This record gives sequence, C-alpha cells and structure tokens, in this order.
Amino acid sequence: MYIRDAWGRQGLKAKAYSAREEKRILAALGRSLLRDFPNPERIGCPGPEVVKRIASHEMDLSEADKWLDHLTSCSPCYRDLSAFQTAYRRRRRGALGAIAAAIVMVACFAGWALFLRPNGPLVRRQKEPSAPRQEKPLATQTAVLDLRDRSPQRGAEPALALPPLEMAPNVSHLEIYLPLGSDEGLYDVRVTTTQGELLLAATGRAKIKQGLTSMAVDVPPSTIRSGKYILKIGTHSWEWVFPLVVR
Ligand SMILES: [Zn+2]
Repeated sequence: MYIRDAWGRQGLKAKAYSAREEKRILAALGRSLLRDFPNPERIGCPGPEVVKRIASHEMDLSEADKWLDHLTSCSPCYRDLSAFQTAYRRRRRGALGAIAAAIVMVACFAGWALFLRPNGPLVRRQKEPSAPRQEKPLATQTAVLDLRDRSPQRGAEPALALPPLEMAPNVSHLEIYLPLGSDEGLYDVRVTTTQGELLLAATGRAKIKQGLTSMAVDVPPSTIRSGKYILKIGTHSWEWVFPLVVR
C-alpha cells in the first residue's frame, strides 16, 4: 500500500497558520504575484475601494470570494492589496493578513478541487503482491496509512497541495503510522464521506517502537468502498484531518 504525503483540511476557513507558515506562503507566492501578472489596462479589476475593504477585513470572505481569483492573478491589484494590507497591519497587529487569508483560501480551493476531481492526478497505488483479492475474499486485508511525513500541527490547517492518502477498498485492518513525534496513547480514528457522513469510528492505542508511533484499527467488512473520504485522527480536544482516496 503506497501512501503519499498528506494534506488535509477542515472547512474553508483560513485559520491557525503560524506566523512562520504565513511568511513562507507569502514569500513564495508574493514574489511571483507581484511580477508575473502585469495588467496595465487593469482589465477586470475591482477598484481600490473593494481591494481596501478586503485588505482591512471590512468585507466578509464570502463576499470577497468572487475577487480572490483576480487578486491572486493580477499584479497591480496584488500590489494594492499588499499596500492596504501593510497599512491595516500597522493598525491592527497580530491578525492574520487578508492577503494571506486570500491566498490560503485560493490554495485551499485549488487543493480541494483537485481532491474532489473524479480523476485527479493521484499517484497510483501499487498492488500488494501477497494479497490476491479474488482468491481470498475473506482474508484480512491490511492497509498501511503512513502519516510519518505528514506532521500537521494539531488543530491547524495542514500543508497545502500534497496528494491525499490512498488505500484499497475492502480493507479490514488498518496499520496507522502517526506523524513523527506523536505520543503514545489512545486516538480516535474516524472516516467520513466528503459530505461528513460517518462511516467508521474506532479507537486505537498507539505505541512507540524504535521511534515509530503506530497503532492498529480493525475495520468492519464492506465499510469503505471506492471513493473519496476524510480520515480524522485525534482525541476529544483536537484532530488531524487527511483526505483519503480508496480505490
Ligand atoms: Zn486587478
């Protein structure tokens, strides 16, 4: 079972980015945004009043939503937004910047849209050579979900643009390698549809062996068919969220 890097998210809110993460995103995106989208005739620009209201959080994100694509693909507007944003920050330090929120939202939309696409560019899972499914339909099928390189901060938005986890359908046993540095103890494991319908709720006890924190969870037969799901792992007070593709 081949599992790639995780990204996961919960809702479309931009929240809980650390200052360092925010800076990193802004640095990477800001450089090209300032330069790569010249729009000398200002085609499609919303005008400075709208940009200012977005930059200073006076406009709801739901209302600002229709401008986000433009603001992140028009260098003059992005410059305006950055300038208004700087002024706004001077007035109100510590708040997550609107441009960061805008970029994060666009990135989230893009990542989520990719995930929800029927045939997204996902990495093919390699077949387990020792598990001939047709011949032994009742045999225990174990899937390894390797979250070691996916170290989302608890309760924070996860890393962007990493492909979802993958596993085969009809799995009856999950081996979950938790993100590096995870504590031993009980974890809730839940799998829901992308609409939030709960398909699997289990509890696993994680143990550390040779630096690897892992746990096992049994899955009732035929619980999870092919499709797109959300894997949630956590406790009563926080959880990690990972997109999961079963096929
Ligand atoms: Zn513009």
